[in-house]
Amino acid sequence: MEVRVLEGEGNKIKILLENANPSYANALRRAMLSEVPTLAIEDVIIYENTSSLYDEILAHRLGLVPIRTDLERFNFRDSCVCGGAGCPSCTLTLTLEEEGPKVVYSHDLKSPDPELTPVEGIPIVKLGKGQRLRLEAEAVLGKGKEHAKWQPAVVGYKYYPVIEVNEKCTACGECVEACPRDLLTIKEDRVVVKNIEACTLCRACAQSCEEEAISVKGDSTRFIFTIESNGSLPALEVFRAACREISKKAEKMVSLL
Ligand SMILES: [Zn+2]
Repeated sequence: MEVRVLEGEGNKIKILLENANPSYANALRRAMLSEVPTLAIEDVIIYENTSSLYDEILAHRLGLVPIRTDLERFNFRDSCVCGGAGCPSCTLTLTLEEEGPKVVYSHDLKSPDPELTPVEGIPIVKLGKGQRLRLEAEAVLGKGKEHAKWQPAVVGYKYYPVIEVNEKCTACGECVEACPRDLLTIKEDRVVVKNIEACTLCRACAQSCEEEAISVKGDSTRFIFTIESNGSLPALEVFRAACREISKKAEKMVSLL
């Protein structure tokens, strides 16, 4: 099985997986969604809240803020050396102290570590004049299968598109018109595909062809993954971490057998 990054960097990438099969591609997708650990706020201690939002709603909003995560440095709380009590190796304590009038954003949460900070620009609450908010929030590692707040990315994949044109083609141009992504063109009386990887397998071209000269199929051994991270981990790291999680599970299975 081979993996190649097709395009993108940072929070959004496209990856090509070759010599694989549908079940492995889906296992990878599911591992990225539910097995890759990230930091998210689990406990909030509210000292003062005179904003228009209840404490519970505020805590829920804080829980969904993505936090930049370093998987090398953090332990799960329940398997940490502190025995689950909470220490710098398993718990990141963020503080917030704001007074209105202003909009409180995710980046107003102060982190003790410059590398483990909340993703910027997410509004949390609007404070009116004189309204105050003072709280402490504890972020811990967790997995998407426990709660969606720990899900690092949205991931989708499609079969690699294969478009074939047979000898019945009269180069009438109907398929060129029909393609909603404008991927086809006619060169020297032949239909050619400009950018096969952008094809969504909608089959509009095949349906438009009266001669039944064009066919669209998905190659079930090659997959194009689109990984869009919420900012807690770079998209490529989400993929790598998912591969590590799968191989850990496979090793466990072997040892059980
Ligand atoms: Zn600990």
